[in-house]
Order: sequence, then C-alpha cells, then structure tokens
Amino acid sequence: MRMVFLGPPGAGKGTIAKLAKEFYGIPHISTGDLFRENIKNETELGLQVKSILASGGLVPDSVTINMVRNRLAEPDCKKGFILDGFPRTIPQADALAEMTDLDAVVDFQLSREEVIKRLSGRRLCPSTGRSYHIVFNPPKVAGKDDETGEDLIQRPDDKEDAIMHRLDVYAEQTEPLIDYYRKKGLIKEVDSSPKPTEVFELLKKALA
Ligand code: AMP
Repeated sequence: MRMVFLGPPGAGKGTIAKLAKEFYGIPHISTGDLFRENIKNETELGLQVKSILASGGLVPDSVTINMVRNRLAEPDCKKGFILDGFPRTIPQADALAEMTDLDAVVDFQLSREEVIKRLSGRRLCPSTGRSYHIVFNPPKVAGKDDETGEDLIQRPDDKEDAIMHRLDVYAEQTEPLIDYYRKKGLIKEVDSSPKPTEVFELLKKALA
C-alpha cells in the first residue's frame, strides 16, 4: 500500500500514521519529522531549514524532493509507505509521480477552528516525541511527561503566529493537491474530528 496523507496541520496525520504503520506493516515517512531530526542533530540540512520550520513556512521544493527521493529508495519502502506531510506543493506532487505510483491519497478533514484549538494546546516530550494536549489529553502532572518526567515542550511552530502562517500556506499551496489527486481518482476522504482510534477505523473503511 503506497499512501499519501493530506490534510491541514493538526488534523492528526502523524498520530493516525503511527497506527496505520503497524496495521499495514509499512514505514511512516514524515518530512516534518525528518527535518526536525536534522535540526536536533545539527546537520547541514538542519541548519539550513531551522528558521524556516520555526516560522511555519515551507522548505524549498528542491531540498524536500531530494530528501524524499533518498528515503523512498531505501529497501523498507519496497512493500509500500505512508507519506505524511509530502507532497505539499504541485511541483512536489509532480516529482513524486516520477518516483512512484500511488494507491491512495487520504484527505483528513478538520475545520480551521478545530485545527487552531488542537495545535495551540499541543505539547511534546522532547526525547520520545510523545504528544499531549493541555485540555483534551493532559499529562498526569502538568507540564511533565507521564513516563520520563521530562519537561514537556511546545513546538516553535505551534505558537500562534506560526499556526496562522501554516494554515495560510496550507490553503494556498497544499489544498490544491486535493483536486490534483481527485482528478487522478485517488482521493479518500476521512473525517478527522473524532478521537484517533475512531479516525483510524474510518481510514480502514475508506481504504477497504
Ligand atoms: P509537519 O510536521 O508536517 O507539520 O512539518 C513541519 C514543517 O516542516 C513545515 O511547517 C515545513 O516548514 C516543513 N515541511 C514539512 N514537510 C514539508 C514539505 N513537504 N515541503 C516543504 N516544507 C515541509
């Protein structure tokens, strides 16, 4: 199964991808995670993209496309993959079409108001990436990870200004991909407003 997960930031693509990865036995490739890993390890790529991620803007297509091409060439992608956060522009989608065929493109749907509520309350454990929400899924002790006790952090791009920018970028550059893939007959729509286990059931039904 070769899949792309589309949908606004905060729609839960990463959370659902973690469930789908186990269920379908295929790797989860998140371009956002790959960039954040490079930033954490202070690689050349990480230094190049750090301020772009913090502002909520998009990394240039050429850089992103190269990174994905290298990742898709790895042997674990032979049986399929979940691309989460890529493509985000039409040139990226055209480049992907030259790399591989796709079986499905899932459009995770969530209103702008709900996206803002989810992202502004999101907190993460810095070492494990475990995700919380200050209202919907709070840790046992405020501000601390349930297992490691570490201080939770807020992603720089989950601050209000960056959220607004990410939503505008999504509407301008990424939303047109829904039509792009609809014309190819690949789009599967999934309501992303229920809790993750329910969204995952909707996804399985949509893909069946
Ligand atoms: P995400 O974790 O998917 O929300 O991505 C976090 C950030 O990484 C985005 O706001 C962009 O700055 C960058 N990024 C991730 N995927 C892409 C992409 N396909 N094209 C350009 N920038 C990306």
